[in-house]
Amino acid sequence: MSGLVAPKGTFDTLPPESARFLAVRDTLTAPLRRAGYGYVETPVFEDTAVFARGVGESTDVVSKEMYTFTDRGDRSLTLRPELTAGLVRAFIEHRLYAGALPVKLWSVGSAFRYERPQAGRYRHFTQVDVEALGVDDPALDAEVVALADQGYRDLGLTDYELQLTSLGDATCRPQYRELLTSFLAGLDLDDDTRRRAEINPLRVLDDKRPEVQSQLVDAPLMVDHLSDATKAHYDAVRQHLADLGVAWVEAPRLVRGLDYYTKTTFEFVHARLGSQSGIGGGGRYDGLSAALGGPDVSGIGYAVGVDRTILAVQAEGLDVAVASGIDVFVVHLGEEAKRFAVRLVGQLRAAGVAADTVYGGRGLKGAMKAADRSGAARVVVVGERDLAEGVAQVKTMATGEQVAVPLTELATSLRASV
Ligand code: AMP
Repeated sequence: MSGLVAPKGTFDTLPPESARFLAVRDTLTAPLRRAGYGYVETPVFEDTAVFARGVGESTDVVSKEMYTFTDRGDRSLTLRPELTAGLVRAFIEHRLYAGALPVKLWSVGSAFRYERPQAGRYRHFTQVDVEALGVDDPALDAEVVALADQGYRDLGLTDYELQLTSLGDATCRPQYRELLTSFLAGLDLDDDTRRRAEINPLRVLDDKRPEVQSQLVDAPLMVDHLSDATKAHYDAVRQHLADLGVAWVEAPRLVRGLDYYTKTTFEFVHARLGSQSGIGGGGRYDGLSAALGGPDVSGIGYAVGVDRTILAVQAEGLDVAVASGIDVFVVHLGEEAKRFAVRLVGQLRAAGVAADTVYGGRGLKGAMKAADRSGAARVVVVGERDLAEGVAQVKTMATGEQVAVPLTELATSLRASV
């Protein structure tokens, strides 16, 4: 055997830990379903142009991290590095903007980035994605932010912070950009950073190196140069967030890795995850639909990293409710009893009871061990003698109590007990 392993930067999620993955994913998405968001499934690959135009050529994601390939029909395709661009592409293609607005959508699935792997940073990861398109209303910004916050709260997370700012829009960002560019021109920066500043000066504000940060103390900030309209928008977002009971900290230097953000921009940061501390983030992207060839409509959304949220859950020592999966386990002794057991398990499953039995003739001891491992609350033991007497033994695992139940009542009684 040639030791094949999962590709670098990827990992497998196996039982029993996979139950935690499902529980976290479902807890994060439950608030969306309660808020009128509709589920969307899009392909995991798109025409490369969807990301090049949608995420932005100047971003690390597009310039360095995409899994791009040419298919057998000579098309340039890319495994999605995030879900938003694909959802907006679908919104445009299916003319969802022609219906009732806002269009509220969510999705969950794989994303792929060629990054340097480390704890919390992978080449294949899972994102929950939320988009509200077609209406520019600060109340909608607040709703979207609050929904992400609700998901974390429902998991029991407390040691995280919502960082919030406004990145302005076309009416004020260009002037601010010029101001920042001339400020940066006066600093002692290396060539690489200068080049980055030329493409997107805002990125420099996010540079973590102390020698850069120390020069940025007096840098002009977007929030101090918002137009009246964007300032009013930001004030309204904060008012609604306060009304919704969502706490935040002002983060005037927050810049995100994707180019399309305007106005409200936010990130959720967890305190115990080291350098990869972002558990989710997003913002308003009023230029994205137009950049993808659609109508010039606004949108706001976020992506939450499921894998990093799981790390946060573990870091806070939370026991996310994980259903064991199996309610009833059936142990059989002898050929007749096996036929009966297989039939009973089929009946129980059809009736909505999670049931399992042993396969491969492992003897009573092995079978009882399997029953124990399954986590089932009730174990049915049935042997040839029981069958002859028309009963089965039903053991309640928590108490060890065992009673003989007539076979004719067995399925009904088990169904009632779960
Ligand atoms: P972004 O799409 O870059 O705004 O990322 C949104 C969220 O996805 C982040 O807050 C992370 O939780 C998660 N995420 C982004 N990149 C990765 C990665 N390489 N590995 C694991 N999670 C990631």
